[in-house]
Amino acid sequence: MRRSDTHIGKVTQLPHPSHAGEVVEHIVAGLSCRRITAYDISVDSDIILAGGGLANGLIALRLAQLRPDVRVTIVESGATVGGNHTWSSFARDLTPEQRVWTAPLFEHRWDNYEVRFPRLQRRLDSGYGSATSERLAAEIARLLPPDRVLTGTPVAALTPTSVTLADQRVLTAAAVIDGRGQGPTKALDLRWQKFLGLEVELAEPHGLTGPIIMDATVPQFDGYRFVYTLPFGPTRVLIEDTYFSDGNDLSPDLLRRHLADYAVSQGWTITATHREEFGILPLGIGGDIEAFWDEGEAGVPRVGLRSGMFHPVTGYSFPDAVQIADLVAALPVLDAAAIYRAVRDHSVRVWKARGMYRLLNRMLFLAALPDERYRVLERFYEHDEALVGRFYAAKPVLRDWQKILSGKPPLPVIRAMMTLIKYELGKA
Ligand SMILES: Cc1cc2nc3c(=O)[nH]c(=O)nc-3n(C[C@H](O)[C@H](O)[C@H](O)COP(=O)(O)OP(=O)(O)OC[C@H]3O[C@@H](n4cnc5c(N)ncnc54)[C@H](O)[C@@H]3O)c2cc1C
Repeated sequence: MRRSDTHIGKVTQLPHPSHAGEVVEHIVAGLSCRRITAYDISVDSDIILAGGGLANGLIALRLAQLRPDVRVTIVESGATVGGNHTWSSFARDLTPEQRVWTAPLFEHRWDNYEVRFPRLQRRLDSGYGSATSERLAAEIARLLPPDRVLTGTPVAALTPTSVTLADQRVLTAAAVIDGRGQGPTKALDLRWQKFLGLEVELAEPHGLTGPIIMDATVPQFDGYRFVYTLPFGPTRVLIEDTYFSDGNDLSPDLLRRHLADYAVSQGWTITATHREEFGILPLGIGGDIEAFWDEGEAGVPRVGLRSGMFHPVTGYSFPDAVQIADLVAALPVLDAAAIYRAVRDHSVRVWKARGMYRLLNRMLFLAALPDERYRVLERFYEHDEALVGRFYAAKPVLRDWQKILSGKPPLPVIRAMMTLIKYELGKA
């Protein structure tokens, strides 16, 4: 509906098609481009969010809660804001205030969770919860005027103050924030957590009182493999076949078969499949975060996976996205330069503070043979609950790392040390 309007929100068409390429070229050239103003491009957004996924969705939500005077427009290529995700996090990943303002997004909460390994089965009494993309889309629909949420509208190019849509129309604002998800990068050294999840109905109650975050008693395959289970109702579960893998290829049919086998192994009969989701999430083993920022469009603020903001070991980005939404909403000035400086500084600081996680990933992905990887996680889960909680919340204290790296190593020490040294020398 909105795409066919001459004015999308306040998007105007370029005056003549023959000028389109020229204008886009100048727009892409960056902030210094003065010729944009030679055309009739109206400005009535304060902020344009390029991509309406998790990170930008949370920014829209937080601004609507705290600064409803700020005019925000979301430009999303997909059919809905938020896509098709279940975003889970541990209770202590968020501050009490963050738990309050994100509460409408959470559809499920539990007081405990389990992990299962060949030699260790354990219940941890820490809270866990799942937010859903449907809830995010509903909150945005409730808080933003409908003409400020443009779905089915791909962004072709952007500058700090403008986006060019795929159909060449241009939208301008005081700031554009790029939240278009994971992009290609040469600056970061990544491995992958990939998974396929099925939300299914079972013939009989499963009897689970909380999620199984990792069931690594399954046959190991393509790296570290585990099944993740969220009990959404007495007979409703989301089960995900998950891999910590060197490659980012995913074979949906194979993973569906693995999930069918897993259900049988648990004594579950699947009577219906309600939903399917899959993900290929980045895990960091190294890289240069400043170079990563320099790869993008000059001066364009980036958030979410686009900004390298994810937990290096789990690929989770929900807590980081909540924090970035708080950070942006609290900025005294909301122009592109101020937002860019704030989000870049934050991302660089956070990336550097998480160096030990990437070292652990190097042990996991480079030193451990694929079928040994589960042992690194099994060993990690022997630690006390408080340490595990701080680890996931990315708020470890120094003695946590001393504990994680001491004791009986899950891998031969010499091999681990040689691998780490080779990586530092660029030979791994
Ligand atoms: C299935 C799945 C489950 C996950 N589960 C968890 C979890 O439990 N906990 C957790 O913390 N993390 C989880 N993650 C990881 C991570 O939090 C998500 O990937 C998260 O959605 C990333 O947020 P983002 O805003 O960076 O990107 P996205 O949420 O992917 O948003 C990017 C948006 O930009 C849009 N877009 C892309 N290109 C364009 C364009 N050219 N023009 C306009 N729009 C565009 C996309 O359609 C998308 O809506 C999960 C990921 C997936 C895929």
